[in-house]
Amino acid sequence: MSTVAGLLLTGARLFDARGDLRGDSVLVCDGRIAAFGPRRELELDAACEVIDLGGALLLAGMTDTHTHFFEWARRRAGIDLSGAQSFDDLLTTLRAAAASVPDDPEWIGGGGWDPHFLGDRGRFTRQTLDQVFGDRPVFFEARDYHTLWCNTEALRRAGVMDGRAEAPAGGWIGRDAAGRPDGLLHETAWELVRTARPPVSDAVADRWLDESRDALHRLGLTGVHCMEPMDVLAHYRRRADAGRAGLRICFHTPLEDLDARIERGEASYAGRDPWLRLGGVKVFMDGSMGSRTAAMYDAYPDGGAGTLLMEADELVAVLDRAAGASIAGTVHAIGDRTVDVVTEAIETVRARYGGHLRHRIEHAQCVRATTVPRLAGHGIVCAMQPVHLEDDLPLLDREWGAAAARAYPLREMWDAGVPVCLGSDMPVATPDPWHGLRLTVARRGRDGREFHPEQALAVDEALAGYTAAAAPAGGREADLGRIAVGMRADLTAVDDIRGEDADTWSADRVRLTMVDGAVVHHAV
Ligand SMILES: [Zn+2]
Repeated sequence: MSTVAGLLLTGARLFDARGDLRGDSVLVCDGRIAAFGPRRELELDAACEVIDLGGALLLAGMTDTHTHFFEWARRRAGIDLSGAQSFDDLLTTLRAAAASVPDDPEWIGGGGWDPHFLGDRGRFTRQTLDQVFGDRPVFFEARDYHTLWCNTEALRRAGVMDGRAEAPAGGWIGRDAAGRPDGLLHETAWELVRTARPPVSDAVADRWLDESRDALHRLGLTGVHCMEPMDVLAHYRRRADAGRAGLRICFHTPLEDLDARIERGEASYAGRDPWLRLGGVKVFMDGSMGSRTAAMYDAYPDGGAGTLLMEADELVAVLDRAAGASIAGTVHAIGDRTVDVVTEAIETVRARYGGHLRHRIEHAQCVRATTVPRLAGHGIVCAMQPVHLEDDLPLLDREWGAAAARAYPLREMWDAGVPVCLGSDMPVATPDPWHGLRLTVARRGRDGREFHPEQALAVDEALAGYTAAAAPAGGREADLGRIAVGMRADLTAVDDIRGEDADTWSADRVRLTMVDGAVVHHAV
């Protein structure tokens, strides 16, 4: 799209982490920002193409800093169950979908069903799905990704029916009164089905990823940080090499790959690939609030307090081994106890290897007041997803009691100088950053109830969480996240929503998305 003559985006309000910038125009040449300022002061080639943004706010391109992007792409290609309002509704959707799927032996996937339907336990069985889909293997994730509902054939191929397969740590196979698998795989047990499925072909993966990338562009997103298995990295790498990525990807590698990665000498946040960089090693330290597996100081109503998936000294050993190869930690921690254990482990490793490695805590959903200055002092990046507040709100007080007040304490963390960046955890929540922004600044549930509004961020801070703060969280502060000369031309233009009620914000307000100097979305 860009030529030597360049492309001028004009009629805009320019905004980045420094606040409102002087001028109304950005000149883009060869994929980079060549100049910005008042239009009359810019030296323009007569052949320069001009796009008038009509007073829109122009930001650095937005990045979602915690995603399972490939999973989201796969889910979009499958059967969408998110609209079903009841178990009967769900069945109607499944029957209609079964009638229209192509007649072949391939696996059928999909999901988005409401976990509250599990109350209808008697009918939530593999046999129910057998009646609809016969012996085509099928699997459907719950909206919260804690449960996978499968038919008998899917479980058979996964080795679950004959007892060959066992659930990995942190998961379990649902069983009926007779002890037979009932069709539900809980938590990490869904891995059994994932590994049983044949790998998706490059052509199919490309179709999913092209369509999903375009969908993200329409939302105003230009980058994603991904937490996914190594076969997914292979797809991203192929597409980056072919110039087909269209998104800046920061990929955090799974723990199983750590030894191999050390062997390959792949440091975190290094390399020069403009599209794909490796982040840290992803380590899971606990589960989630909804499944009462996030490790807390205080007990859940059932008396448990969640579980650390690794002992503290084991985590130190892993992070230490990684740090020796210049690989940072990217650690999943939800409960307040887990966040403390991870913070302490990072402190220990930093004391040994110095502060240059960019360690991250993913989610940091419950953070004690005493932990906040430690996170700030050590510059530990917290990748947070306040968009979950919407689903969590009805559960928080019940599950966490007094500690619920410490859920997503964003105002306090931001003021203390904790490097906070924002995202969605797609497909667990919607990838729509405007929805995430709304919950960051307004913290209102579906019923309109406000949740600790004093912990809300201001709109400019929240926008920074997707731009200027997201770039360093992916090691890209030198070329992404700000409107400055020489930066890569990833830009998002949106109606100037800053003075408006957050309920009016939506992706419909995105005017233009640019990646690497190319206009990839332009609403007219
Ligand atoms: Zn995640």
